Amino acid sequence: MNEAKDCPFCGNEAVRLEGKDLGYDYPLYGCVQPDCPCAEMPFAPLEEWNDRPIEDALNARIAELEAAQRWIPVSERLPKEETQVDLWCYEYGAKKFRAIGYIINGKWVIVGIEDQLLVSIVFISWRYPIALPEES
Ligand SMILES: [Zn+2]
Repeated sequence: MNEAKDCPFCGNEAVRLEGKDLGYDYPLYGCVQPDCPCAEMPFAPLEEWNDRPIEDALNARIAELEAAQRWIPVSERLPKEETQVDLWCYEYGAKKFRAIGYIINGKWVIVGIEDQLLVSIVFISWRYPIALPEES
């Protein structure tokens, strides 16, 4: 992909100048918004304009944190045995509910729910680490 990123300061679309008019054999990119600090800076080649190491590192870290907080369908994979996880489940004929549970010897254990009740519960997805349920 060879697309210019938006301005790192104001977020406006980058302006492309044909470099040949300025003595370059490649296009240059910059921002022309009058109130933007970037407007004072010289236009730059695409690679330089798009080079945002801090922004890229932050975006990578955000993606990593979001992936860690993702709800994982039980059909995709199960949590490690004996690791407490956040759960979305439902009981036949009832609505979905949040719970905290873990798997031991291949069987689900839900904190605060007796074993015989587990028979009617369908496990939908889980995530780790446990996050407090949102207030409803
Ligand atoms: Zn700008």
